[in-house]
Amino acid sequence: MAPRTPAVADQAFVTLLTNDSYATGALVLAHSLHRVHTTRSLAVLVTSDVSQERREQLSAVFNLVQEVPRLDSEDAENLRLLNRPELGVTFTKINAWTLIQFNKCVFLDADTLVVRNVDDLFDRPELSAAPDVGWPDCFNSGVFVFKPDRSTYRALLEHAKKLGSFDGGDQGLLNSFWSNWACSDPSHRLPFVYNLTVSTSYSYAPALKRFGSDVRIIHFIGSIKPWHHSYSTAADQVILCPGTATTQEPVRKFLNIWWNIYITEIPSPYLVLTPPTPPLSPPYVSSGPYPDPSEPLPEAESEAWRASWEQGQIDYMGRDSFDRIQQHIDSLINSTETTASTETTDAPSITDEAETSA
Ligand code: UDP
Ligand code: MN
Repeated sequence: MAPRTPAVADQAFVTLLTNDSYATGALVLAHSLHRVHTTRSLAVLVTSDVSQERREQLSAVFNLVQEVPRLDSEDAENLRLLNRPELGVTFTKINAWTLIQFNKCVFLDADTLVVRNVDDLFDRPELSAAPDVGWPDCFNSGVFVFKPDRSTYRALLEHAKKLGSFDGGDQGLLNSFWSNWACSDPSHRLPFVYNLTVSTSYSYAPALKRFGSDVRIIHFIGSIKPWHHSYSTAADQVILCPGTATTQEPVRKFLNIWWNIYITEIPSPYLVLTPPTPPLSPPYVSSGPYPDPSEPLPEAESEAWRASWEQGQIDYMGRDSFDRIQQHIDSLINSTETTASTETTDAPSITDEAETSA
């Protein structure tokens, strides 16, 4: 399948992938752009770590799949402050300025989703972006308008080498390069609805209720991405992975939109129609309610489950149901009994110890 021919071929939406995991996000993003009838090209930057299989999938929806060198800040200290050690590699983003076949571009993180047409962004100057919710005098680097240019690319690279990034990722780097963004002409400041950053603890729910229908781009920031959850086709909704139990209803709605595109647009071999058993990793689709109380939790999820239990986020109707707890206790008792009955007489026992010390 060939990608659609864009009406405006010399301008592009650009995203980035340094591994196969984010490819799922990029594919959904591309489909979301097609759904809102963008007239621009779609380009994806990939590093050598992205598999051939994924590249083929990407080339069905992106007009350009461009391999670029992997760049890493290797700034462990600041990345630890962010609690996101994996983000050093986002320095790779600056390769976007080398796409000089385009006269204007809009960068979109692979964890974004376009829900209304945003082609008007191409009327904006470089560098236009929306404020970051964590520090609104900085822009969030998940969505920005830029102009590919080799000299800007070289200057960014030089800046990165000399000064690094104050957060270890691309956002710190780009904000120190465009350090006057907050005070520049208002045309550089995108409305928040062009980069609505949602996370599990979205803090301004009334605004989301009031302005939610104006949203154009949803950005799933944080380490848990939409493809880490699962989806129940029976219930027709996303099943949140443990640790996200407090997610508010609008966020759940956004995740449902993402999953709806995923299950309708991405070819079926990439979907699994049963709940997962290790080592299968998300994303997966469950054809029934998940978790099935009789299924053991996947290894990686049990840590997060324990953490949410300890924080009082208890799912009484689902994974923490009485039946399931009883089942867990029974299995522990059974395994203790088995161990006890298979113990050899040579093994030291409490009684032996007591006798020796007496
Ligand atoms: N990214 C990537 N591989 C990684 C981490 C990040 O390709 O291991 C790319 C991807 O496009 C991602 C972007 O860099 O959307 C920024 O990272 P992320 O979205 O995870 O950061 P957040 O928005 O959560 O701060
Ligand atoms: Mn992001």
